[in-house]
Amino acid sequence: MFAPNRPSLQIYSLMNRLPWPRGYRGRILLICFVGTHVPLIAFCVFMLFVRGSFDQTFWIELLILLLATLAGTGMTLYLVHGMLAPLRLTSSALRSYREQRSLPALPTGFTDEAGVMLAQVQDTLVDLDKAIYNLARAADTDALTGIGNRRWLMNRSNEHLGRAAKTGEPLSVILFDLDRFKSINDHWGHAVGDAALISVARHVREAIPSACSFARTGGEEFCIVLPNINLTEATEIASKLRSGIAALSVSPLAKGTVTASFGVAIQQPGETAITPVIARADEMLYEAKNQGRNRVVATEASEA
Ligand code: GH3
Ligand code: MG
Ligand code: MG
Repeated sequence: MFAPNRPSLQIYSLMNRLPWPRGYRGRILLICFVGTHVPLIAFCVFMLFVRGSFDQTFWIELLILLLATLAGTGMTLYLVHGMLAPLRLTSSALRSYREQRSLPALPTGFTDEAGVMLAQVQDTLVDLDKAIYNLARAADTDALTGIGNRRWLMNRSNEHLGRAAKTGEPLSVILFDLDRFKSINDHWGHAVGDAALISVARHVREAIPSACSFARTGGEEFCIVLPNINLTEATEIASKLRSGIAALSVSPLAKGTVTASFGVAIQQPGETAITPVIARADEMLYEAKNQGRNRVVATEASEA
């Protein structure tokens, strides 16, 4: 952890104790004001204590010096304000990133201390944003198949449910589980099992409508949430997926070795959560397993 070097903050903290002015810019301006008035003060002290006389020339010289100091002070205040722009920019960039996650576009081409600070802040925020994005993606993704995981599906389902509640559109769920997958693993090894999972996930992702949300919700269990698709359509989609999976070739397995059983259900009127719909699809999946596997079982049509 970086600890600030205390001596480097000595003057800053001393100035910080001043009751006035309160702002950083005000304090810089105060320093400049005092600095630009040193020649004037030196002149007055010299005239007062060394020359001791105030003839006409003195008043003219004093007036010229006063005007020149005033002009110099005005210019200094203006330029210092401009020189503090990197500080103001950096501060507002950090605030807007913290409050709105919006990335700034700070200039990165300046090479003095303030310019380096701008570039460092810009690069740090870009890297940080990338890291946050990657972490969020990893938290939502199934590492083996690259599709969404249960957490992601639950979040997406809430969005689907919200839209369905507004539009009155149907919302279906397909749940499927690979058949006798343990024996594939036991017989051919875990790597072949993994290849089968990857192959199934890729096939399903390509076969379903793009508006659907598809996730791996367990070891060899997958779930699809299908917005604006009724029970009959969802059952048809499940049947195509079933035959598509059975036709997959996963080396060294013979075609038809990898199969899956499917359960299909639809959101009931008034249902505001996806869990009961998934639970009914799970009951149907259980039924499909009981009936001999490699088949689709949907809830009664009257449910829709
Ligand atoms: P059923 O038809 O009743 O579903 O039988 P099953 O053998 O598929 O079900 P079971 O629950 O007995 O076994 C599931 C197997 O899935 C056991 C586990 O080793 C395997 N599995 C879970 N996750 C993974 C994974 O990431 N990779 C591999 N290769 N296998 C996995
Ligand atoms: Mg299984
Ligand atoms: Mg299972």
